[in-house]
Amino acid sequence: MLQLILHYGIHILGPLLVAIIFFRKQWKRAFIIMLLGFLIDMDHLLADPIFDANRCSINFHILHSYYAIGVYLLLALIKQTRLLGLGLLIHIVADAVDCWFMLF
Ligand SMILES: [Zn+2]
Repeated sequence: MLQLILHYGIHILGPLLVAIIFFRKQWKRAFIIMLLGFLIDMDHLLADPIFDANRCSINFHILHSYYAIGVYLLLALIKQTRLLGLGLLIHIVADAVDCWFMLF
C-alpha cells in the first residue's frame, strides 16, 4: 500500500511540485508537458505479460533502459526539451521506487 502511494505520489506530485517551484509562471503548461512522461509506459505493451507487479521496469522495458535514461538526461539538459526530459526522469524515479521495494 505504501508502495502504491509512493509510486503514484511521485508520478503525479513530482511533476506538479517541479512545475510550481521551477516554472511558476507557466506551471500548468509545465505540469502537462511533464505528464507526457507517462507515455513511455507504452513500452509495457511490448512486454509479456504487459503488467507484472513483481517486475522491475527499470532496464526491462526498452524505454526504461539505461540508454533511454541517458537520453532523458540529455533532454533535461537542453533548454528546449527540458520539461519533457524532467518528466521522463521523474517517471523513471517513480518506477525505480517500485524496484527498491522489491529488494526487501
Ligand atoms: Zn514506467
